[in-house]
This record gives sequence, C-alpha cells and structure tokens, in this order.
Amino acid sequence: MNKQYKDHNQYIRYLNEYHIILGINPMKPDVIIIGAGVSGTSASIKMAQEGLKVVLIDRGLPIGSKNLSGGVLWGNDLAEILPNWMDDAPIERFIINKKVGFLSERDATVFDFHFDSWKEKPYPGVSILRASFDDWLAKQAQEAGVAVLSGITVDELVFEDGKVVGVKQGNEELRAPITIIAEGVNPRLLLKHNLTYRKEETRYDYPDMMIGLKEVIQLDKSVLEERFLLEDNAGVAGEFILGNMNDSEVLAGGFFYTNKESLSIGVIVHLDSLSSEDRSYEVIEQFKKHPYIKRLLKDGISIEYGAKMVPEFGIKKMPDFYGDGYMVIGDAAGFVFSNGLVIQGMNYGIKSGILAAETAKEAITKSNFSSSTLSLYHKKLKKSYILKDFEKFKNVKKMTKNKRLFKTYPNAINDGFRNYLTENGEPKEHLIRYMLKSFRSSGAGIFTLIKDGLGARHL
Ligand SMILES: Cc1cc2nc3c(=O)[nH]c(=O)nc-3n(C[C@H](O)[C@H](O)[C@H](O)COP(=O)(O)OP(=O)(O)OC[C@H]3O[C@@H](n4cnc5c(N)ncnc54)[C@H](O)[C@@H]3O)c2cc1C
Repeated sequence: MNKQYKDHNQYIRYLNEYHIILGINPMKPDVIIIGAGVSGTSASIKMAQEGLKVVLIDRGLPIGSKNLSGGVLWGNDLAEILPNWMDDAPIERFIINKKVGFLSERDATVFDFHFDSWKEKPYPGVSILRASFDDWLAKQAQEAGVAVLSGITVDELVFEDGKVVGVKQGNEELRAPITIIAEGVNPRLLLKHNLTYRKEETRYDYPDMMIGLKEVIQLDKSVLEERFLLEDNAGVAGEFILGNMNDSEVLAGGFFYTNKESLSIGVIVHLDSLSSEDRSYEVIEQFKKHPYIKRLLKDGISIEYGAKMVPEFGIKKMPDFYGDGYMVIGDAAGFVFSNGLVIQGMNYGIKSGILAAETAKEAITKSNFSSSTLSLYHKKLKKSYILKDFEKFKNVKKMTKNKRLFKTYPNAINDGFRNYLTENGEPKEHLIRYMLKSFRSSGAGIFTLIKDGLGARHL
C-alpha cells in the first residue's frame, strides 16, 4: 500500500475516488483476482512481487470475515512468497502432536503421534484462525502493492469475443487482460457462466460435497496447556472417524485443533449421507458429547460458530482450470484433499495461486492471454504436488464413502481392543482372535475385511 495512506479504508476511499472500480481506470490492472481467501491473496502477492498491477476483490468486510477452516495450515508453500511468514503471521500454535482415532458410541481407540522434530522451523503444520490470518495476509498483499478492494461482490465476468476480459458489479466494469477466479467452494461465477461441469440447479451436487461445521471454544490458556500437555507454543491436531452415530446413516469425521487460548472443534459430514431427518448441527453436538471429547471441552465457552461447504470433486470432476483470459484456483477448482482423517485445502489453494501467478507473469510478458498460453498453468499444476496428489488418490472416495469405515470398523476396533485389554478372569486369547470376533459380530466377515483391506490402499 502506498505509504501516504494510513489505513485500509482510506486506501479504498482513494481507489473509489479515482474510479478504479468505475472502469475509468488509471491503474489499468494486469490481473483481477476475485476472492481474497488464502488462494487469491497468495496469487496477488506473487504477481505484485513480479511487478504486475493487481486488483484483489473480496465481498468480505473486513477481509477474512466470510472464511472458515478447521484449521491447520500444513506445509510451507507460503515461504515461496513470504519467507518469514512463520515469524510474522498470527500463528496460534505449531502442531507437534497428532491424534488419529476411531470413536464408537462410548469408546475411543486413538493413535497418538508425537514428533519432537515438528517443533523446529519450518513447522510442518500450524493452527490458525482464518479471520486474523486472512486479514494479515491481505495486509501483506497491500504492502506488496496490490490494490485490495473489500466489501465488493463481483456479480459477473465480462466477456468479449468469448474471452474473459474483466469483472462487473452492477453496471460498473473493471477490465484486465487476465482474471483469476478464487471465489471458493461455492463457485457462483463459474456456474453462472457455465465454466464448470456442474449446473446451477445442482449447485450443491451432494455426492461431491461435504459440509463442515466448526466451533471455537475459549479455554483458559493454563487449563488448555495442562489438559493437552502442551509446552511453549506447541499444539495438538486430532482427527477422528465418527462411528458413534449409531441411530443414523450419517458419515462424518470430527476434528479438534488447539489454538493459543481456545480449541477449534468441528465435524465434516458427507452431505449425501444426511437424510431429511438428520440435522448437521446435531452431528457436532454428538461429537462434543462423546466421553473422549467432552472432558476436553470442560468449562470452555463457545465464542464462534460457523459452517461451510467442502468440495470433494475428485480429479474427474474438477472444472477446467483455465480458458481465454482466466484461471481458476483454490476451492473453486476443487483443490481440497480429504481422506476421512485429513482435510487440507489451504496449502493446495496457496500453491495453486502461486502457479497461476507465475503463469500470469509469463502471459503478460508475452502479451498473450489466450487459453493456449494460460494452459501453462495446467502444466504447472500437473508437475506440482497438486495434481499428482489428486491423480494418485483419485479413487479415495471408494474408501471414504464406504459405510463400513464409519458404521462397522470404529465399533469393531473399539470392541476388539476393549475385550483384549479387559481382565475378566477368563483364559486369554491372542489379539487377532478378539479382533476377528468383533469384526465378525459387527457384520464384517473375512472376505469383506480382505476387500476393504485392499480398498484401504486408496487412502
Ligand atoms: C470446517 C472446515 C475445516 C477445514 N479445515 C481445514 C484445515 O484444517 N486445513 C486446511 O488446509 N483446510 C481446511 N479446510 C478447507 C479450507 O478452508 C479451504 O480449502 C480454503 O479456505 C480454500 O481457500 P480459498 O482461498 O480457495 O477459498 P476461500 O477461503 O473460501 O475464499 C474465497 C473468497 O472469495 C470471496 N468471494 C466469493 N465470491 C465472491 C464474489 N463474487 N466477489 C467477491 N468475493 C467473492 C469470499 O468472500 C472469500 O473470501 C476446512 C474447511 C472447512 C469448511
């Protein structure tokens, strides 16, 4: 941001005064980005660093107010554009302890991973709260020279000769040779202009969508650290398969992540498993009431609650990532990786934003914004971990949509271990016998186990 402007609002007033959003555009941006989530803002920073003139537009006021994640930001992609982000960003805690578990109605079998090396920088994962994190990231964009316009909803894309040449709000247009669509999981613009396989009427195409519900529970810092055995700024990430919804067919996972003085807790529910009688908010309530979870929330105060969709398109149903004059990044492109125990979207969003930014730089240098030039973005996605991951895990839904993963195995695993570990005065058996017995009595015979065991290779 130009140093003469004291704050963001003053800067926006300046932009409005000079009619940047009225089409009388003294800046003549090279690129317009729709959406200042982690994807769009990362793209904007990279392009500004490359010397491009960038306008970043978001409907949220302030930036980040519409955004929601669990959330742990995994990986270090941001270092490509902000090398010191781990020192400067509003990080809550670095994750050192990961718990992965299966919950049955009353029991929990939890694998507890504690990696001491995870406390060294660069941290593999950090817990963040999106409102403060996105606001900080937007400020980095402003400092890099990006014009950030908040509180503005783009109504439609502007086309000329079949090419995207800008954006429109009401009757006002802003034009640029390249537009980057980073509008998130609910891609109204892609749907409106038929730039995705989905149709407006099947906007929430249930087989490809999950809903995430999240609550932030405030806890006294010392209570939190004692309860989760945390030192310094270390944190815990817990992810669970919820097998405790016995009376419904809901397929869901649960998570909790420690922040500095609060706990983020939530569930991710496969939308197509919700019947008309099920209520998604009941799933999070049930998760919070589970005996393993309940004690972690004791005396906590709920300070935030939100819900947001999570795309689960898989590589076969992602939209085209580029066309004449535009590219699609982040959730809008379907870049969320989920295998029932892990949910990652922010790192994919940041990386896709950086790759789109590199492509934009090349296109501007060549003065060619055609889809053939922008196809470089697709090539970069293929070379990066993004499309490699989605290609490798293209059949993950065979397992994550397998009802037995939620309805049979959590109960069987808990029963098997409980019987093995309970001393009841009877002759002991080998663990394998207890497990096979409990799997059989849960309805999974040996052939089913072999079949699902093979299916687990997709995870
Ligand atoms: C409950 C839950 C838990 C999650 N946990 C994790 C986690 O722990 N780790 C992880 O990596 N990921 C997690 N995710 C996924 C992660 O939140 C997303 O992948 C990530 O937010 C995608 O970023 P994005 O920038 O693509 O989209 P978003 O963050 O959704 O940003 C899109 C932006 O576009 C703006 N916008 C939309 N339409 C318009 C318009 N027409 N005009 C102007 N602005 C517009 C919105 O205001 C918004 O700011 C979770 C998701 C949920 C729901």
